[in-house]
Amino acid sequence: MSTQEYFDQGELVAVLTTQPLDRTLDYKAPEGGCFLGAFVEVPLGPRKVLGVVWGPGQGGFDLNKARSIIRVLEVAPMREEMRLFLGKVADYTLTPMPAMLRLATRAPGLGDPPSMRKIYRLGTGEPDRMTDARTRVLEVLRDYGGLAFTLKELAEQAGVTSSVVKGLVKQGAVREEDSPRDLPYPHLDPDLPGKALTKDQAAAVQKLHEGQRSGEYGTTLLKGVTGSGKTEVYLEAVAEALRMGKQALVLLPEIALTAEFLTRVEARFGARPAEWHSGATMTERRRVWRMVGQGDAQMVIGARSALFLPFRNLGLVVVDEEHDTSYKQEDGVHYSARDMAVLRSAICGARVILASATPSLESWANAEAGKYERVDLTSRFGAAVLPEMKPIDMRAEQMQPGTWISPSLRQAVRQRIERGEQSLLFINRRGYAPVTLCRACGEQIACDHCDARMVEHRFLKRLMCHQCGETKPMPEECPSCGVEGKLAPVGPGIERLAEEAETTFPEAKIAMLSSDLFGSARALKAKIEEIAQGDADIIIGTQLVAKGHNFPKLTLVGVIDADLSLHGADLRAAERTFQLMRQVAGRAGRADKPGQALLQTFQPEHPVIRAILSGDEEGFWKAEAAGRQAAGVPPYGRMAGIVLSGPEVGPVFDIGNAMARNDAPLRDIGAQVFGPAPAPIARIRGRHRVRLLVKAPKGAPIQDAIARWIAPLRLKGDLRLTVDIDPQSFY
Ligand code: ADP
Ligand code: ZN
Repeated sequence: MSTQEYFDQGELVAVLTTQPLDRTLDYKAPEGGCFLGAFVEVPLGPRKVLGVVWGPGQGGFDLNKARSIIRVLEVAPMREEMRLFLGKVADYTLTPMPAMLRLATRAPGLGDPPSMRKIYRLGTGEPDRMTDARTRVLEVLRDYGGLAFTLKELAEQAGVTSSVVKGLVKQGAVREEDSPRDLPYPHLDPDLPGKALTKDQAAAVQKLHEGQRSGEYGTTLLKGVTGSGKTEVYLEAVAEALRMGKQALVLLPEIALTAEFLTRVEARFGARPAEWHSGATMTERRRVWRMVGQGDAQMVIGARSALFLPFRNLGLVVVDEEHDTSYKQEDGVHYSARDMAVLRSAICGARVILASATPSLESWANAEAGKYERVDLTSRFGAAVLPEMKPIDMRAEQMQPGTWISPSLRQAVRQRIERGEQSLLFINRRGYAPVTLCRACGEQIACDHCDARMVEHRFLKRLMCHQCGETKPMPEECPSCGVEGKLAPVGPGIERLAEEAETTFPEAKIAMLSSDLFGSARALKAKIEEIAQGDADIIIGTQLVAKGHNFPKLTLVGVIDADLSLHGADLRAAERTFQLMRQVAGRAGRADKPGQALLQTFQPEHPVIRAILSGDEEGFWKAEAAGRQAAGVPPYGRMAGIVLSGPEVGPVFDIGNAMARNDAPLRDIGAQVFGPAPAPIARIRGRHRVRLLVKAPKGAPIQDAIARWIAPLRLKGDLRLTVDIDPQSFY
């Protein structure tokens, strides 16, 4: 990287743009010159595009032809640490730099001059006559000293209409000014009193603070059962970062970004932090981006892409629920926000806290190996105890066909209803039934564009493909044999389970929680709030209930099918089942009432089910680690998934076969190639998909080898290749 920090007008500079080009472009520095890292607007053909000054120009062409940078944007230049970070993520994930820059500039209107709005302060003029309303306005302004208000705020505070304020402006008694809309975030005070910590918690905080004060990079795995106070503990680490004058970033899975969480932060620090998530408006996003860059946002709470915000002085990154699969982005840039959080922090000397009740095997192994520090919180806060976990052996239950709630589970739910407590019935499947079968010809209704069955959604009155989102009305007759009235649902989804619960417990109030039943994240969160207040006897939920919500009246969790995810082809099937079951069970008994978790299973003796029930986590991880070590798979070996896709299956396989034959760059590093094989979902949106899997020894330079392997490929027409380093899913 260049050491030249400033370029004079007319000097040739290299600009990285957001356009899909494989190199930087040379431009002349504009009038007034520009700094390295400056965000600029440059001409590209007839267009103006966003770019960043990346270094001195490459030259090698007629300098008279060089065009000038149009203008330097009024935002803080990209820091060296960010340029390094983007470069490393690009290398790690085999992503072209322009795509990295797009990821780091996902706030619209970055280049616009700060937009303005009107604000109101006390003026010097005297109103010609005073009314009660006018007096109140002036009083409010005097009470708040020099503070400025928006028109709406001022009118509300004074209890007057906005025309009263406007009248005072005309007379000079109130002053109207223009002020930038992107205001700094309110100050967070780390020294407000926090909660009194338990001994366990205080010791954990102490350890985290010691690490922070070292001023050096370090990662801590903060492991503690649900309700043990991990959030309380990491908020104290945030407080310490703020005291040190540094910025803190808390990453959460999107769905865990709740009002409840923000309220907790506000209670601790006296103001709300900046938020970065998909629901934020464009204006909010731009404000966060700018304020983070100029150091006027001390704390950001965000979903995974917040990691690419231009922090000025990042001191701490918390990755809450670090095992959560939503941290892995699987379109566009394939990156793991957890792993990249560690990378970013290593570059800028920040601390990382990975918090979870059920860490990923990767993080557990890193702690075992001494790469991460490990801090455990072993007991739940206060009177709350961990739920008792028990299997329901489905082989011994008398089940009516087409029902899924066993007599034993039914009885347990009844007890809770009588006591006025809540039960959660968990099934990790959206929709009414996973399969719609024609009883005349045996046809299962499939998506026209994907190699996937259509899932019936009665709530929407349609069939839906969970791969591409395509829906169609439920047909009367079989699309294959044409026979009418023979289509039947097979297997349960959340909607069908709710139907069963309604007939089984007619007296109960039932609430369904599934991501597709709500129009917006906000509506879903509102529903979760209602349920937490006690507005349901039975909650029927999918995976999304497993994430960080607090239901104080919940004392029973019934898992309808604990075996469901045990048998995936995925190398992490056991780990995922273990995490999910323990997380779901952890929803029960958070307040003062003990909880119980009942797992319906046909295999109570399966080692994973046994580990879940016994709560022997270390035992489970050791066994799982040994298995993966023997197989040479992550985290004890490296993997990359290659997906080739195209409209015709033949050419896709041809490329796949050619890649498998020409695998010298991979053999050089001791890696193996498996495939090509049709992907588990062999067609999505009409595109045929073929997978290759690369397995390499731990420590092998897999990216470099893959880059050399795919460099000679010329993908014709509509063929696409994606590389997923450290793949998490294998669809
Ligand atoms: P986790 O993040 O491990 O699930 P939380 O930090 O959310 O745990 O704590 C669970 C509940 O217990 C929360 O309602 C929290 O406010 C409360 N709690 C935890 N520790 C304390 C404490 N030291 N004092 C008061 N309340 C606490
Ligand atoms: Zn489809």
